[in-house]
Amino acid sequence: MSDNLLGSGSGSPERVNNGMNVTEMGHRMAHALSLVQSYRVTDGKAFRMEDFPHDVDRDTLPWDGDEMDDVLQEGVEAMSSMQDMMYAQDKWGLLVIFQAMDAAGKDGAIKHVMSGVNPQGCEVTPFKTPGAEELDHDFLWRCMKRLPERGRIGIFNRSYYEEVLVVRVHDKILQSEKLPGALIHEKIWQERLTDIANFEQYLGNNGIRVIKIFLHLSKKEQKKRFLDRIEHPEKNWKFSQADIEERAFWKDYMTAYKEAIQSTATPSAPWYVLPADDKKFARIMVAAAIVSTLAGMDLSYPVVSDEQRAVLRRIREQLLQED
Ligand code: ATP
Ligand code: MG
Repeated sequence: MSDNLLGSGSGSPERVNNGMNVTEMGHRMAHALSLVQSYRVTDGKAFRMEDFPHDVDRDTLPWDGDEMDDVLQEGVEAMSSMQDMMYAQDKWGLLVIFQAMDAAGKDGAIKHVMSGVNPQGCEVTPFKTPGAEELDHDFLWRCMKRLPERGRIGIFNRSYYEEVLVVRVHDKILQSEKLPGALIHEKIWQERLTDIANFEQYLGNNGIRVIKIFLHLSKKEQKKRFLDRIEHPEKNWKFSQADIEERAFWKDYMTAYKEAIQSTATPSAPWYVLPADDKKFARIMVAAAIVSTLAGMDLSYPVVSDEQRAVLRRIREQLLQED
């Protein structure tokens, strides 16, 4: 039984919020936490895509190339212990939205970063082309059904942002959405973006924090990854012809992403525009973005009352007296 349960319950002085101190987190992860702030966008109006790099110069990092896996591990461990506390506290929820061009590494980032998290406290939902039932509803409907409960982390692999990205890039998708014709007009994208921003603010007001991660891949690196998927038979399944078709609309996608970020990046629902050409670095930054968000919550284990503690002490004595 822990000292906290039977003792005073107060943390030691060097502890920072969430019961997590820098030593526990690992100093390299602490560096990553400060680094990720430079990719955080909280003021959409001032956002310019060209200010955000696709890559990172590893020589500028405070750790060596062969330490990357260890740094990620530190991040995963920090996240795991904070998530445990969030689950026990059952007040906050966290929604992490992943958006990116094909082959930017969404799947790999989700797999690696969430690897150490208790599966009971986390749910990943991929959003593909909507089906008939989904098209019979407003566009947020299918996402609302998958929002995280308090105490949990919800991961959206793509999201309602597709409604202002792929749907914006391809007019024919909008035409097939079953909207009344009068509602399809030139302001529809700004309307949708305002609805999204309001929805995210609503979630924040209810204790569900929202962060959006854009894995910012370069067109050149996408070409390299597509070729790799084509040239290696065991990776062929990852490549679809649709991917190459979407690549042809790269510029339109970038404009749509820029406007989405400009309209929806706020202090309470920030975007993280992360360099994605270096997969390992991107994964570390994803972990750092999540850890940094959890660190901003007043997480703590539920406090046990004096009476409950007295009961626990009695039960402990009984257990110790058993054969
Ligand atoms: P991967 O290719 O890494 O397996 P993915 O997220 O690209 O993952 P796919 O099955 O290839 O998954 O593609 C899903 C497709 O569904 C994407 O092209 C995406 O743009 C599209 N999509 C998602 N949401 C919507 C939407 N609301 N309307 C139209 N298309 C959508
Ligand atoms: Mg795909």
